[in-house]
Amino acid sequence: MSHLFDLAGKTAIVTGANTGLGQGIALALADAGAAVSLVGRSAPDETVEKIKAMGGACCTVKADLSSVDAIDDIITATRDQLGGLDILVNNAGIIQRNDAIDFTMEEWDSVLNVNLRTVFFLSQAFARACVDASQGGKIINIASMLSYRGGIRVPSYTASKSGLMGLTRALANEWAGKGINVNAIAPGYFATNNTAALQADPKRSAEILGRIPAGRWGQPKELGGAAVFLASDASDYVHGTTLPVDGGWLSR
Ligand code: NAD
Repeated sequence: MSHLFDLAGKTAIVTGANTGLGQGIALALADAGAAVSLVGRSAPDETVEKIKAMGGACCTVKADLSSVDAIDDIITATRDQLGGLDILVNNAGIIQRNDAIDFTMEEWDSVLNVNLRTVFFLSQAFARACVDASQGGKIINIASMLSYRGGIRVPSYTASKSGLMGLTRALANEWAGKGINVNAIAPGYFATNNTAALQADPKRSAEILGRIPAGRWGQPKELGGAAVFLASDASDYVHGTTLPVDGGWLSR
């Protein structure tokens, strides 16, 4: 069975791969044999070092994903440097916390732009490149528990991640017939910068841990298996689904 999960000869774009879940996913894809294009606004030095240490291949593309301006460059630079385009992981994302009653337009737009608008147009550019090359592809969106639930004090984040789960289904409906799999992973509560405020708040942290059956925060490398599955031939007949990796949180 192991060849089903083999990514040798494949090229993957991972956005926001310098840290956190993006780094965990990039390392897992590289470990499975993919060459990885590390895309983001901060230099992913540590990720590059770790991929090189395992004998893997990667390139870096500097891009601010708060606008769609860098999309053409991401596609072209990846193909030029790594010679292909097979997998896109839309991981980069931000969160803004404020009471809904006080929420500003900047807090709304900044989150929707990175978490949804750029994700759609980057996915479109990736799908066009796949169609032009007469090949299939794999798109993996990083959703959230707030694709399913409302959350507290994060209205733009909830809107973006709930929208992302819907977008995953919508794109799968249109692109499955072109051999492009569009799926999502919904991480539960993982120990990263994104959740630093929650981890540091003793009350919220205890509430969160109290309803995770696994009884602990997830570690970024624990998303690797789901990412490799959805990036590989093993998931060729999986379309439009969102796979929770949540320590059981949604089952409570
Ligand atoms: P993180 O803050 O450590 O990483 C976010 C990444 O996105 C970083 O690489 C950052 O540089 C990049 N990024 C943000 N804005 C960008 C921009 N304008 N241009 C380019 N890159 C940008 O957080 P994380 O927890 O690793 O988050 C990764 C993804 O996982 C996000 O989409 C987040 O919403 C999602 N997520 C995280 C958790 C969790 O528990 N940590 C749970 C569910 C979903």
